[in-house]
Amino acid sequence: MSDALLLAQGLAKTYPSSGSPFAPRHRVLAVDGVSISLAKGETLGLVGESGSGKSTLGRLVLGLEKPDAGLVKFDNDVMPPSKTAAWRRLRARMQLVYQDPLGALDGRLAVAEQVAEPLVIHGVDKAAKRMARVATLLARVGLSEEHGTRLPHELSGGQRQRVVLARALATSPDLLVCDEPISALDVSIQAQVINLFAEVQHQFGVAMVFISHDLRAVRQISKRLAVMYLGRIVEEGATDDILQAPLHPYTRALVSAVPDARKPRTRRITLAGDPPCPTERPGGCDFHPRCPLARPTCSHLRPMLLNSGVAGRKVACHLVSEPEPLQLARAH
Ligand code: SF4
Repeated sequence: MSDALLLAQGLAKTYPSSGSPFAPRHRVLAVDGVSISLAKGETLGLVGESGSGKSTLGRLVLGLEKPDAGLVKFDNDVMPPSKTAAWRRLRARMQLVYQDPLGALDGRLAVAEQVAEPLVIHGVDKAAKRMARVATLLARVGLSEEHGTRLPHELSGGQRQRVVLARALATSPDLLVCDEPISALDVSIQAQVINLFAEVQHQFGVAMVFISHDLRAVRQISKRLAVMYLGRIVEEGATDDILQAPLHPYTRALVSAVPDARKPRTRRITLAGDPPCPTERPGGCDFHPRCPLARPTCSHLRPMLLNSGVAGRKVACHLVSEPEPLQLARAH
C-alpha cells in the first residue's frame, strides 16, 4: 500500500494529427511515458509552454482521456474505465477546474443552480440542505447568496472563476486538477484568485495538480514542481529549489524569464525557435535543437529522467548525469 492519493505511471497519449485530408496521417504524441505521484493534501505544479502536454496529462489522471499506455491509481485502486458507474462515483472525489470559466458555465442557469449541480448528480443531500450547502460554498470562495441568483454573464471574470471553484468543491473532492485557472483572467485579479486557491487548498485539505505556464503563480501555491517539454517531464523537485537553481537548460530559460525582486537581476536566456512539431520530434533529446548547451550525444541519445544528485530532484539531461554536474550551473 502506498500513501499516494494519486499515482500515474508511464502515461502515454497520442492523437491523430489534424492536417490536410490529402497529407499522410501522423500521430501526435501529446504525453510520452509520464509518471507522477501526489500525496493527500499536496499540490503539484505543472509548468511548460503551450503544447507541452500539461492539460492532456491533467485529463488522463482524471480518466477524462483514455491513455494509450500506463496506469492511474487513485487511493490505491486502479482507475476504473471512464464513463462506467464506478468511474462516475469516483468523479465526485476528483474534479476539474477549467481554464475558461465562461465556457465552463451554462449561460442560462443561475449560478447557485450550477454550484448545486454536482450535488444533484451524485445524490448528495436533499434539496433544502443542498441550497444551504451552496450558500456556504459561495461564502467560502468570497461570494454572497445574491451572487448565486445571477447569471454567469452578470459576474466579473474573477467572480466566475470563484463560481467554478465552488462547484468543483461541492462534493468535497480529494483532488482538484486546475487547468490554467488564472490564464483567462485580467492580470489585476490573478493574484487574488491564486490566493483564493491557496486558502481553499489549506482549508479543505484538497490535493491539487495546478497547471500553469506562470511560474510565479505556481510558486505561490505548490511546494513541488514538474516541468514538461514536448510531452515529457524534464525536471521535477521542490518548487523553491528549482526556482533558485534550475538544472535543466529548458527550466533555466523559463526561470530566467521570471522577474524576481528577491534575486539579483540575471541575464534572460532566450531560446532559439519554437518547440518542434510533435509529429516530427527530433531524435535524441527533444530539446536539443533549442538547447544552448547541446553536444553531439544529445542529437541521438534520449536522456532519462534520473535523480540528479540534488536531494529530491530529477532531471532529464545528459549534462546533469555527468560526473561533474555542476558544469551545467557554470555554463551560463
Ligand atoms: Fe541540452 Fe543535451 Fe541536456 Fe538535452 S540532454 S537538455 S540537448 S544538454
